[in-house]
Amino acid sequence: ESLRRINLDFHLTDHDMDCAVCDADGACELQDLSYHYEIGATKNRTIPTELAPGSRNRDTSSPVLNFNSALCIKCERCVRACDEIQGKQVLSMMHRGRFTFVSPEFMQWSRSSCDGCGECVQLCPTGALTEKALVERVRAKDIQRHVQTTCGYCGVGCQLDVHVKNDRIVRIRGVETPPNDGRLCVKGRFGYDFIHSPERLDTALIRRNGELVPASLSEAFDLIATRFKEIRSAAGPDAIAGLASAKCSNEENYLFQKFMRAGIGTNNVDHCARLCHAPTVAGLGAAFGSGAMTNTIPEIAEADCILITGANVTETHPVTATYIRDAHRRGADIIVIDPRRIDIVRDATLWLRQRSGTDVAWINGLLNVIITEGLADQSFIENRTDGFAEFQAVVAGYTPDRVEEITGIAAEDLRRAARMYAGAERAAIVYAMGITQHTTGTDNVLSLANLAMLTGQIGRRGTGVNPLRGQNNVQGACDMGSLPNVYAGYRKVTDATVREEIAAAWGVDFLPAEVGLSVVEMMHAAADGQVRGMYVMGENPLLSDPDITHVEEALANLEFLVVQDIFLSQTATYADVVLPAAAFAEKEGTFTNSGRSVQLLREAVPPPGDARPDWELIGELSRRFGLPGRYTDAAQIMDEVATVTPSYAGISHARLETEELHWPVPNADHPGTPVLHTTKFTRGAGLFHPVDYIPPAELPSSEYPFVLSTGRMLYHYHTGTMTRRSSALNRFAPDAYAEIHPDDIARLEGRVGGDLRVTTRRGEITVPARASDRVAPGTVFIPFHYCESAANRLTNAALDPVSKIPELKVAACQVTPALTPERPRSGRGVPDCATPPVQHRAAAPAGDHT
Ligand code: SF4
Repeated sequence: ESLRRINLDFHLTDHDMDCAVCDADGACELQDLSYHYEIGATKNRTIPTELAPGSRNRDTSSPVLNFNSALCIKCERCVRACDEIQGKQVLSMMHRGRFTFVSPEFMQWSRSSCDGCGECVQLCPTGALTEKALVERVRAKDIQRHVQTTCGYCGVGCQLDVHVKNDRIVRIRGVETPPNDGRLCVKGRFGYDFIHSPERLDTALIRRNGELVPASLSEAFDLIATRFKEIRSAAGPDAIAGLASAKCSNEENYLFQKFMRAGIGTNNVDHCARLCHAPTVAGLGAAFGSGAMTNTIPEIAEADCILITGANVTETHPVTATYIRDAHRRGADIIVIDPRRIDIVRDATLWLRQRSGTDVAWINGLLNVIITEGLADQSFIENRTDGFAEFQAVVAGYTPDRVEEITGIAAEDLRRAARMYAGAERAAIVYAMGITQHTTGTDNVLSLANLAMLTGQIGRRGTGVNPLRGQNNVQGACDMGSLPNVYAGYRKVTDATVREEIAAAWGVDFLPAEVGLSVVEMMHAAADGQVRGMYVMGENPLLSDPDITHVEEALANLEFLVVQDIFLSQTATYADVVLPAAAFAEKEGTFTNSGRSVQLLREAVPPPGDARPDWELIGELSRRFGLPGRYTDAAQIMDEVATVTPSYAGISHARLETEELHWPVPNADHPGTPVLHTTKFTRGAGLFHPVDYIPPAELPSSEYPFVLSTGRMLYHYHTGTMTRRSSALNRFAPDAYAEIHPDDIARLEGRVGGDLRVTTRRGEITVPARASDRVAPGTVFIPFHYCESAANRLTNAALDPVSKIPELKVAACQVTPALTPERPRSGRGVPDCATPPVQHRAAAPAGDHT
């Protein structure tokens, strides 16, 4: 105790004691300890405060945090947090002795590579590092409530401690529990302003005389019921289609598909998993019997080798990336196979750059080397799998030299990667949409499943095949049956016994037996006039779907469109009725993360005006279609889910209050299943699939010589409806860009930062050029979040025949410097990109459905 007191006294010599003006405002571990050891008053101190020269620096240049060195006690927690928890190494201690101070690279936050994750702020014990938004808006002592809930952005599902004052969120911190163990990324920690945006929808809107005008919820429900029933009488239930949402809760997705199937009478229900991980559901389902991540997210830190392909993991799943870096610090080999030199490459033992769309070829090449060099796990193959002989015959043709010709990966590098992966004690595969968004997406996933089975790298901790799901609840939305071919728990709509069981549980006489339309098929059917009415919950196909010129035509051709959302999205501007929904922090329910962990959502703040949780809005519509059942809360819906979904049978909100549960949870006493396929695969034996390489649907030509790829970035999420209304995120990333190799810019005589015109067979956009050797010469990468340079105006809607995912990762394009005067940059927020809708195909009076 005596030594602690002395050490504390030393710390205080570096610390400006004026607590009255401290940004921590009493939320200070140093202050608490000073009182505890009774050296809070200067007269009790043995060593006088003597701030080193230059200690009164304030750095307010970061978009998210302020640094006040006068309050820093040089404990180095921030440096350790940045280095050892987030793996970013932005901060370090400078100089010696009394003159030591904390500094970001280049001595200034705004000039450093700090990406704003805020881990340093969370761990700073004094007011030296503070959240900018908190200091500007509220004092820490004014915080009235803390609510634990689940992040509404990516599929990691980080647990958030939401601080609330006067029904407004004023700060978010990470909770020290799985899956994030206190860690957050910049979106989860600082991207919450959108919740209190003045642009939130707080009333229903109905189109009258061509304009969307406010209406009561009950008027809106009446109109929706009337119009959908009219369309159903005139053209049958399959003339209506619905898009559920990976942003909404399990309970909401469950009710949505139930409404479409039992209320409307169609299986035309799908959601944006079709655009991200439909091949995972199909491929892993066929190989293993379960189309989900085989292991949990934190377990990745236990791997000895991690093969990352098609996953820009530090930007798209930042907290998952911290576990990969944990493994790297332990000495694990990281193999990155990606056409772009993404950020995680700096931690890689081996980076192989393949030509876009050649994934089956390089995976078959790895399999070929593993078999040829005797590295396969024979005992696993014999005891746990089927189909090896047919598979081996196909793989034999993919020698490293042939693979080098197809993929551009040097034969020797391929051999090194094969030995590294197969030779590891525990090797994990991590992949995302770089693997799935291809016309061969299902083949790519089947090939990765082959790789794990050939080497026995599955069914144990720290191994497995780990698809990183894009949106917060894309796993749950699939689990809940928001798909055209299955009910909740992936039970087939074509199975008469299952149909009967579900109909009995729902109290209805009839359920449709034919598989419905998928996302892209719905848009084709709307353009053709076969689908006449559509219900869109929380999706924005006018920015997220491929070939959006075609989507515009399709939506304009509908007779009746309902959009339920938190903002007037681009898609909502085409709607006849808009229903105002609650955001993730305004409702109860559950999300299921990438690692199959079902986690609670809790209401931190109330929704604005007439906005309601989606489950309440769907429940009201369901009643108008005569569906039995009235739900008073989300927990009651989960209880119903448990009765019809074997993998969720033991899950309830009450259990989730105290337990971490990974499905399958077959009964109320079951502890959940963090690792799948431990002693046998879900389907019994794992099934090898012989898969041959097929080139992408569209290859470069003399007219379209570049390869276009699209994807995500750290600061924005999906179609930007939320992140582009968050000021900190917009300060980091206000404008769209096209990454293009510097040699290509020079060849085109374009300007870095000047606009490029990018053209494909489907359309053209102008977008600022960002010179970067992250991309290979001859390729262009454009993030799809920005409506003013909408990448999906260019993408190809060609589908994978099995999973029906479009080929968003490869399109042939032409790139020229834009000769038009430079466009004004958007600067901040969501620019008004929506094209006014053309008149809907009118069954009701044109432009007025009332
Ligand atoms: Fe949210 Fe994903 Fe960031 Fe975690 S990693 S805070 S879930 S966006």
